[in-house]
Amino acid sequence: MSGLHIPIGTPDGSRTEHAENLLAPNPSAMTLDGTNTWVIGGDEVVVIDPGPEDESHLRRVRDHLGERRVTEILLTHGHFDHSGGARRFAEMVGAPVRALDPRHRLGEEGLDDGDVVGVAGLEIHVYGTPGHSFDSLCFWLPEDRAMLTGDTVLGRGTTIIARDGGLADYLRSLDRLRAAAEGLEARALLPGHGPVLPDPIAALDGYIAHRRQRLDQIRAARAQGARTPREIVKIVYADVDRSLWAAAEMSVVAQLDYLDRL
Ligand SMILES: [Zn+2]
Repeated sequence: MSGLHIPIGTPDGSRTEHAENLLAPNPSAMTLDGTNTWVIGGDEVVVIDPGPEDESHLRRVRDHLGERRVTEILLTHGHFDHSGGARRFAEMVGAPVRALDPRHRLGEEGLDDGDVVGVAGLEIHVYGTPGHSFDSLCFWLPEDRAMLTGDTVLGRGTTIIARDGGLADYLRSLDRLRAAAEGLEARALLPGHGPVLPDPIAALDGYIAHRRQRLDQIRAARAQGARTPREIVKIVYADVDRSLWAAAEMSVVAQLDYLDRL
């Protein structure tokens, strides 16, 4: 793709022709390098996920834009590391915030599957992709053949199913993204955390295979006698850093819920 740029070592400054990432300074085991704030457009821009409420980051984004007007702020979902700074950033640049969850909106307009947002002659197509959270959205940029995936697909590792998400929804969303990536000939996934993924089909196939594998492992752990989510985490996530076990437990709860409904 013309304009695809993936810096080595940091997602900051990753870009396609019309999308550019400004990394927020909130690294952690859960947020990888930090939250990716994506700026989409040309002489006018849409800002996707201002990130946490971090004044230095929000100012950096505003200063980076210079004279370019922000027409709208969009959220991939309502988790705090993506949405926490939205209200403050909206004040700074005088733009509305659109999100699926009405609690995260500022202004009249919502955001949902099938919406098309225009900016600087470009289109941003909204895909409803519940699962990581109930309100997760992905954004397709036809011009760049790039899909912004929020926390539905991360640039490294795998995502979790949060308490407000669900695995059945998540698996459907991955299948939908896989079909879209193939049908639309996507050339990059632009995630909410971590580096740009230049091979969308391979990334999505990896995610889908990983989910199936974890479900098989959980079935096997249960067959061995593990009962509580924590007992299952100890077996299935033995290879994962302990600082992530609480999050893993959340994923196990989601997976048990899914298996028990089959
Ligand atoms: Zn996140």
